[in-house]
Amino acid sequence: MIDLYRVLPEEMDELVKTLEQPRYRADQLLQALYHESTKDIASLHHLPSEMRDKLSAAGYAVGSASEVHRVVSEDGNTTKLLLRLTDGTLVETVLMQYMSKGKGHPRSTVCVSTQVGCAMGCTFCATGQMGFERNLKAEEIVAQVLHFTSILRERREHVTNLVFMGMGEPLANYSETIRAVRILTHARAFGLGQRHITISTVGVMQGIDKLAEEDLQIGLAISLHAPNDKLRKKLVPTAGPNSVGDLIAATRSYFKKTGRRVTLEYAMIDGVNDSPEIAAELAALLKGNGAHVNLIPVNPTAGGFERPKWKRITEFERILKESDVNCTVRVEKGSEISAACGQLRTDMAKNF
Ligand code: SAH
Ligand code: SF4
Repeated sequence: MIDLYRVLPEEMDELVKTLEQPRYRADQLLQALYHESTKDIASLHHLPSEMRDKLSAAGYAVGSASEVHRVVSEDGNTTKLLLRLTDGTLVETVLMQYMSKGKGHPRSTVCVSTQVGCAMGCTFCATGQMGFERNLKAEEIVAQVLHFTSILRERREHVTNLVFMGMGEPLANYSETIRAVRILTHARAFGLGQRHITISTVGVMQGIDKLAEEDLQIGLAISLHAPNDKLRKKLVPTAGPNSVGDLIAATRSYFKKTGRRVTLEYAMIDGVNDSPEIAAELAALLKGNGAHVNLIPVNPTAGGFERPKWKRITEFERILKESDVNCTVRVEKGSEISAACGQLRTDMAKNF
């Protein structure tokens, strides 16, 4: 089976040609796939039946993800879905919405997973603790976005932003992640603005370099978590010996090549990386770098890590700002339904 959701528009043109159909059929097909809730080839009514038959005979199908379980936060703004992919694999994906008074949801951000589990083993991350199962295919990443698109369509809303911050390390699944980005941003396919997409990485160096060379205007977030290698290695055991220095250099070269500033994510863990001394070390490291620091009070997982007290977080923020380091504290969404950063895991969901 070849999933139509992994076919790029240029490839769709070729495909239509091999089926001896005019080129505009490619656009009709793309329109149906990305802007209507098409479930299978048989429901592509505006295509001639001969073409539909040829598509099926050539092994093509419309892939999809079916919803197994849904949890909505009390305020209704965060929705976590457990999806079953066509081969039975389970994957979690999250929708975060931001309310503006009287105007509905102006921002609807989907957080997608790129792998089932993760091989990086970060000690404070539930996904890392479940180990690595497999990479997701581009169509399986696209399916997560489309699933929310159909839910939002019923409310006359749509996906406005996309973050690669769900399960897995996107740059360790580079080619499928980029294929998904191309399909989701292509004007003839899903058509989401490149600037509305952020890829978050724990620091796969070759992946960051490659990404900077792509003709893409997407945002990059790097999960730093510590200002020195000794501390970082405790939190990210797979980090290399000079990972902090390498990552700081990467923020500069990414900015130089793409003109886009990198966000540095910093999960704040009580008693581990949240002291004023560590804040000063981080401030010295980042002074004049231009990067933006996003402090994320750690979300509870099985690892026993806790959030620092609010005062400690604001003190950390103050020290960074004092050195002119751009910094915000991320207001977490969805932690009470285990839908927040680092809380996604599917190995306990086998009973669905
Ligand atoms: N693998 C990539 C992207 C997925 S994780 C990465 O690590 O960047 C997305 C973000 O969630 C990362 O910044 C990660 O450090 C953060 N995160 C993981 N576990 C967390 C937890 N328990 N609390 C808060 N943030 C967490
Ligand atoms: Fe993987 Fe990111 Fe979790 Fe680390 S924080 S284990 S890289 S998903």
